[in-house]
Order: sequence, then structure tokens, then C-alpha cells
Amino acid sequence: MSANVREIDRDAEFDSQIRPQQLAAFAGQEKIVRNLQIFIKAAIMRDESLDHVLLHGPPGLGKTTLANIITNELGVSLKITSGPVLDKPGDLAGLLTSLQEGDVLFIDEIHRLSPIVEEYLYSAMEDYKIDIMLDKGASARTVQIKLNPFTLIGATTRSGLLTSPLRARFGIQCHLQYYDNQTLTGIVERSASVLNVAIEHKAAVEIASRSRGTPRIANALLRRVRDFAMIQNDGVINPQITRIALDALDIDKRGLDQMDNKILNTIIQKFGGGPVGLGTIATAVSEDAGTIEEVYEPFLIKEGFIKRTPRGREATPLAYEHLGIAINRAGEL
Ligand code: ADP
Repeated sequence: MSANVREIDRDAEFDSQIRPQQLAAFAGQEKIVRNLQIFIKAAIMRDESLDHVLLHGPPGLGKTTLANIITNELGVSLKITSGPVLDKPGDLAGLLTSLQEGDVLFIDEIHRLSPIVEEYLYSAMEDYKIDIMLDKGASARTVQIKLNPFTLIGATTRSGLLTSPLRARFGIQCHLQYYDNQTLTGIVERSASVLNVAIEHKAAVEIASRSRGTPRIANALLRRVRDFAMIQNDGVINPQITRIALDALDIDKRGLDQMDNKILNTIIQKFGGGPVGLGTIATAVSEDAGTIEEVYEPFLIKEGFIKRTPRGREATPLAYEHLGIAINRAGEL
């Protein structure tokens, strides 16, 4: 087994220990949680499957966690797949026909479904029926198969890429927002207590404030800080060891990591502050354009470091200030 595989295994183990299992343990996103509580209760009372749910928002905000929680709260089984994996309608048919009444099918990255598979999904979602093609050529015929009523939960980081017919078939649509520092602090403290790690409140606040509003990052940083604390501080996580660890990991005071800073630096130093196109930035920082758009940019925009304009991305005065670079007014003329 390679080191990488072991690392992934450990990540998965860590993740399964700290992932909330019930809505009550899911921090933040209050409105979504309140609404889901009602919809789930109503579906159970009516003895019907829950309406299809679309979860959208940046990576690491809890979409997979919510899909698991909804399944637990409904007391049904969960099947998990993702858009790019469902290559052919046959792959989807196999999954759909295996669902028991009320079960949940979770499709991650649903914006990456192929058009043919997506179209196939329409009748499954709407009427719980699918048409299966038997044979090929002259003897080809279709048979209709009735499915058990089920709930589709789709997750996407790019809801703008979803076609409107697909989007319209989700009765419940939830947009997950970045978390505030207080909520993230609570998540860090909860994870630490599940893992039996001693953490001072101020250290949890420090980790939260550098986590880009994202629980997955907060938990990942907690894990790294725990390593530093173990080796250098008898396992106790206090603010001092937290700062040493986060500085060593190149996470700055505003929670920006190396790639965030590289993007800002590139826009300012190489392209006079912008506007500059996404593809050009991607090439300059050697990162995939989609990743920049889904992972880095939403946070940089939310924090006010860059602006999206029709002509491209622009660095704001805050970005100059953050990097300690004077604004070159002449460049704007
Ligand atoms: P996504 O599917 O949106 O990429 P995940 O559901 O995989 O994100 O969540 C990433 C990590 O963050 C998981 O380890 C999960 O335990 C944690 N997490 C996400 N949202 C919350 C929350 N609201 N409360 C507590 N932990 C959370």
C-alpha cells in the first residue's frame, strides 16, 4: 500500500468519526436545517418518499454530510454515485432498479452528468419509470420499468451549469453558504471532543478564522495542528502552537493559502491588477481553470479580494493591501 493510499484511508477514518449523523448535530445553515426538518417530518407522516433535493455550494460545506443525514433521518438506505462515473444510461438503470421504496440516491457533481444519462433521469425523477432498450438494430425495442419511489439528492459546486429541465425537477433546493467564524469554532471544538483532543477555546477560534469559511478545511487544519501539538506541546492545542502550525502550513492571517496568494499576486504583478481572464490566470498559476472558479475564486470574491467584471477578474485595493503592494494608479489610465 502506498503512503498516499494510507493517507486517504486515514482521512476517510477521521472523516467518518467526525461527520455529524443527525440534523441536530449539523452546525450552521440554520434555514436549510429548519426547512429540511419540516420536509422530512412531513414525508414520514405521509409515508411518502421525500421530494428530490438539490444541494449546491462550494466544496467542503457539507453537501455529502447532509445527504447522509437526510438518509438517516428518513431511516432509509443510501446509494452514492457521481456525475462523471455514470457513463451510460445502463449504469444509472442498474442503480435505480436496485433502490427500495423511499431510498436515497446521491449523485455528487450532478452538473457533470452526460446529456444522455441526464435525460434518462427525467422520467425516473418525475414518474419513477425508466425505458430500457433491449437488443440493437432492427429488433431493438424498449420496455418500461417501474421503479420504487425514491429521493434523488444531487450535489453541485456549479449550479449555473445545471440545465433548467434538470433543475426544475428538484422540489427542494438548498444553497449552502460559507460558515461564520463562530459556527466554525463550534465545529472545531466538536471535532476535537469527538477525537478526544484537548483544545483551548482561543485555539479553536484561531483555526476557525483561518479556514476559509469551510468545515472541511477547519477539520483538516485541526488535524494538522494536532500533529504539531503532539510533537511539540504534549498534545495540548493552545493558541501559540496553533499559530506555529498554521504559519508552517503557509495559511496566512486571513486564512488564504499559498494558491490564493499566488492568484492575487499573479493578477497584480503580471496583469497590472486586471481585468484578466480566468483561463489566463489558470495558465499563469498552473492550476485548472475549473478548480480556480469552484474552489478559490468564490472565497476570494466573498472576502473582497477580487471582483468579477465582464472583462475578467480584477484585484481590489484590499488585495494590494493584503500583499503589501502599492496600487499603481498610472496603470489604470
Ligand atoms: P461537500 O460534500 O459539500 O464537499 P462534506 O459534506 O464532505 O462537504 O463535508 C466536509 C467535512 O466537513 C466533513 O468532514 C464534515 O464532517 C464536515 N462538515 C461539513 N458541514 C458540517 C456542519 N454543518 N457541521 C459539522 N461538520 C460539518
